[in-house]
Amino acid sequence: MLRTIETRGFALSSLPVIAVDLGGTRIRAAVVLPDGSRLARVERPTPSADGPSAVLAACRDVARRARKAAPADVAATIAGIGLSSPGPVDPERGVVLEPPNLGPHFRDIPLAADLAAAEDLPAFLDRDTNVAALGEHAFGAARGENDFIYLTVSTGVGGSIFTGGQLLHGPDGFAGELGHVPVGLDGPPCGCGGVAHVEAYAAGASLARMAAELVATGGSAFLVARARTLGKDEELSAKDVAEGALADDPACMRLMNDARRAVAAGCVGYVNAFNPHRIVVGGSIAEAEGDRMLGPIRIAIATEVFSVIGRLVQVVPAALGGDVSLAGCQPLVMRRLANHDQRSPTTIKRPDNPVAVPGGTHP
Ligand SMILES: [Zn+2]
Repeated sequence: MLRTIETRGFALSSLPVIAVDLGGTRIRAAVVLPDGSRLARVERPTPSADGPSAVLAACRDVARRARKAAPADVAATIAGIGLSSPGPVDPERGVVLEPPNLGPHFRDIPLAADLAAAEDLPAFLDRDTNVAALGEHAFGAARGENDFIYLTVSTGVGGSIFTGGQLLHGPDGFAGELGHVPVGLDGPPCGCGGVAHVEAYAAGASLARMAAELVATGGSAFLVARARTLGKDEELSAKDVAEGALADDPACMRLMNDARRAVAAGCVGYVNAFNPHRIVVGGSIAEAEGDRMLGPIRIAIATEVFSVIGRLVQVVPAALGGDVSLAGCQPLVMRRLANHDQRSPTTIKRPDNPVAVPGGTHP
């Protein structure tokens, strides 16, 4: 396969891919060029309520539309399909195992094989946070850094460990669930069933739940007043808690301080465990908080990590924003094709020639 691509006069890393990002609320696709730029972007809601086959059909639809909308010279050199999905996934077999937010029947779905067959291209899948880390490494805040932690603080808290130039998958592909590391012996329950996990303090869903509890108990004057302004089907969100903290509401300040402190404590553990040189922090909550979240991480690393390890660590904001999992599909495909990740390329049936021929058999 490598030979096929080389004889066409392209370096392997310089080919475009089709990227599909399967999320809990929307599915996005684009054709991603070797510099990370996105063309032919398409998006549609995730039809989780209609079952797994509807979700698969929607993924095939956005991939097909993105490929069709790309300029002919780009479409002719597409090397494969990169797929980003909520975890847990089996990256080797390209199977989405049991994501919590894609409906109760979405179990063991062979997403990569389905897309590979539909588009007659090799397809590769990884967890959204791993794909995001590949994106930040190739094009963003981890460029040139082969040992880093990627952390996203958003609706959930997720992460990825990139060590020695490789994603750390673990034997089953599950490594890097950095949001589910405990940062206390007692504390709020986590959605996963654990106790005092980073996610239980800092995720948007956790902050929203704790905000609702504060309204029910009258524990926050700010949130009680804010709740009165909500429409019938609206609920308080992490944004309301963050705004309450900025308005000096004591209960909101405590929740946000706990969230920042939990993320910082998690980072102390990640640094001592993995010796990264950089921590890249993304996600909507981290983005909104900026240095209010990054500052406590930097202080904790300076004061609570073994100093010889902590001195080497930079803490930086993610650079690629919401499209990071689309951008990361380009290096995902290139690495798997070149076997840089030391994963077997795929167990799915692949065409002998992964490069689409314009006007050929692919409609
Ligand atoms: Zn958890």
